[in-house]
Amino acid sequence: MVDWFARADVDGGVVRISEPHVNELLSANFWWLRGDDRDVVIDAGLGVVAVRQAIPGLFERDPMVVLTHAHLDHVGGASEFVDRAAHPEEAGILAAGVPASLYGAELFDKLGIDAAEEDIPELMIDVLPDAGYDPAAYRVAPMTLHRLLDDGDRVDLGGRVLTVLHLPGHTPGSIALLEEHTGTLYSGDIIYEGALIDDLPNSDVAAYRRSMQVLVDLDVSLVHPGHGNSFDRTRLRQLAESYLRRTA
Ligand SMILES: [Zn+2]
Repeated sequence: MVDWFARADVDGGVVRISEPHVNELLSANFWWLRGDDRDVVIDAGLGVVAVRQAIPGLFERDPMVVLTHAHLDHVGGASEFVDRAAHPEEAGILAAGVPASLYGAELFDKLGIDAAEEDIPELMIDVLPDAGYDPAAYRVAPMTLHRLLDDGDRVDLGGRVLTVLHLPGHTPGSIALLEEHTGTLYSGDIIYEGALIDDLPNSDVAAYRRSMQVLVDLDVSLVHPGHGNSFDRTRLRQLAESYLRRTA
């Protein structure tokens, strides 16, 4: 049995969980935040291996999972959680079952990505989690939401509060979570180090540009993104301004 998840404790009762055996295109971070009354998990990974068994303690306090958007690498594990929340504009895709495959060509096809120019990996994981695992059986189950989150809504964990920022562009219902008290932004796929994806069938460059303008002006000290390493406000501004220049 492979150690599927990597777990890192960051400051302030926050745990970063990632999936190192997943191809870099799909290897996402998810974040476990502990409040006084309740825990929240922001995103839930690809769903190849059950989170409940692999991350001891994660489910002890009946956490709510908040989904930044409805892509397989962020929501694959979400059906394990009893209490799920996301933006209303992602609810339809989640209810229908998000497009998913561990085979590169099939996945690109399902996502509507024109892969003519790209080098498509045959399999999106570099090892099987156990010898009997069948990648062809992988899918993301349809799921309902128990709470809809829109811009300005607050998620109160007791002792820590997250404010929802609706920042569309990557997808119509992409949200980030801002903890104002610590100046920490959980940005999902809205912004991270690396090529941002704005050419999916439901992406919107004009909306993405408006979202980037919000991020340029946002007063935060730390960004925990959906992919790659965390960064500070200076880097946030650089990344957002570079997107605005590139798409001008
Ligand atoms: Zn995404």
